[in-house]
Amino acid sequence: MTDAAELRRRTQELLVAQPPATTGRLDFLRARFDAGLAWVHYPEGLGGLNAPRSLQAVVDAELEAAGAPGNDPRRIGIGLGMAAPTILQYGTEEQKRRFLRPLWTGEEVWCQLFSEPGAGSDLAALGTRAARVDEDGWVVDGQKVWTSSAHAARWAILIARTDPDVPKHRGITYFVCDMTDPGVEVRPLRQITGEAEFNEVFLTGVRIPDAHRLGETGDGWRVAQTTLNNERVAIGGMRLPREGGMIGPVARTWRERPELRTHDLHQRLLALWVEAEVARLTGERLRQQLVAGQPGPEGAGMKLGFARLNQQISGLEVELLGAEGLLYDDWTMRRPELVDFTGREAGYRYLRSKGNSIEGGTSEVLLNIVAERVLGLPAEPRTDKDVAWKDLAR
Ligand SMILES: Cc1cc2nc3c(=O)[nH]c(=O)nc-3n(C[C@H](O)[C@H](O)[C@H](O)COP(=O)(O)OP(=O)(O)OC[C@H]3O[C@@H](n4cnc5c(N)ncnc54)[C@H](O)[C@@H]3O)c2cc1C
Repeated sequence: MTDAAELRRRTQELLVAQPPATTGRLDFLRARFDAGLAWVHYPEGLGGLNAPRSLQAVVDAELEAAGAPGNDPRRIGIGLGMAAPTILQYGTEEQKRRFLRPLWTGEEVWCQLFSEPGAGSDLAALGTRAARVDEDGWVVDGQKVWTSSAHAARWAILIARTDPDVPKHRGITYFVCDMTDPGVEVRPLRQITGEAEFNEVFLTGVRIPDAHRLGETGDGWRVAQTTLNNERVAIGGMRLPREGGMIGPVARTWRERPELRTHDLHQRLLALWVEAEVARLTGERLRQQLVAGQPGPEGAGMKLGFARLNQQISGLEVELLGAEGLLYDDWTMRRPELVDFTGREAGYRYLRSKGNSIEGGTSEVLLNIVAERVLGLPAEPRTDKDVAWKDLAR
């Protein structure tokens, strides 16, 4: 079993072989992946060493101390947080070898083609159709929406209906879609912040080889659950230093600008600071629980708390700054590849955090998940459970 001492030794070996000061960023990241120090709990040959997941922190600390470059999980969040664990669990050996390395190094960006105009919270109602056309593969037609990073992505995880004659959860199949293929059209959608971080994606006669199917035909809903459970942990349970999230900028303003302080704001800031710290430490505990297996429905609770807290903190920040907090003067159309919460002004944080309670599952739906799957309360009534998808009212 690889222990902390062994990982430290291997990390030092990597640093000697590829000194960060003289090695290019990509070369360093590739070498780190090949040394099994990318995600240490992954299998050997796929960026890991089958080590306990908790020991990743040992490697990260050594590399940070040596000034080694990181792989910037914000830019490649969908790949790292959602596509990778799904490929690891359901992919063939060939798929794992093809996709995981450039995904981890960030050479290939991923997006998630799940939501549709008529299928968001009720994702299993989706209508994008994948028809088997020959032995080699499928042809996909349909429309997706709110697809973050589609404009930067090389690959997409895609769910599509392959059997309309069975109830909605059973007729879905999971694919990897090549975003550069003919028939994939990406159109920007502007957000409340003015920028277009997400897109509409039109799929017209897109050919997908059967070798790019993840999991069994018709089993896409189960595969998608792996993605969705990981998504909530990825969004809600990001590893952060103290004051590393939304609370950071407002706490700094508080320290630097005593003229803005009032007693009431002081009390509210303190309460939110404590909550932010509790959320950060709960995320740490959740990550430690993950060492024991797949993320469970508890990730839904983390994501719920993350959204509520971000909105409360950014609201307080705007209030603290008064008229200055309302200034938002850059409506230039941008197509960012990064969501940079802390690097921009308070107005941006306030507007962007509105999406936190929608993206990755709305807060209302996450409350349902916590009620049903964590607390064991009765499930919502479902009248469509045994009805073929093609017979559902739309
Ligand atoms: C910033 C951002 C980025 C996104 N990125 C992506 C992406 O990359 N890929 C992707 O596939 N999708 C993405 N999405 C889409 C997101 O996952 C969906 O918007 C979300 O699942 C909600 O679906 P909907 O918009 O269709 O709303 P609806 O499902 O129509 O919901 C409308 C309202 O009804 C409520 N509601 C619905 N069902 C229930 C219920 N059973 N009980 C109680 N209330 C209910 C909802 O909570 C909500 O308030 C993104 C969204 C945002 C805002």
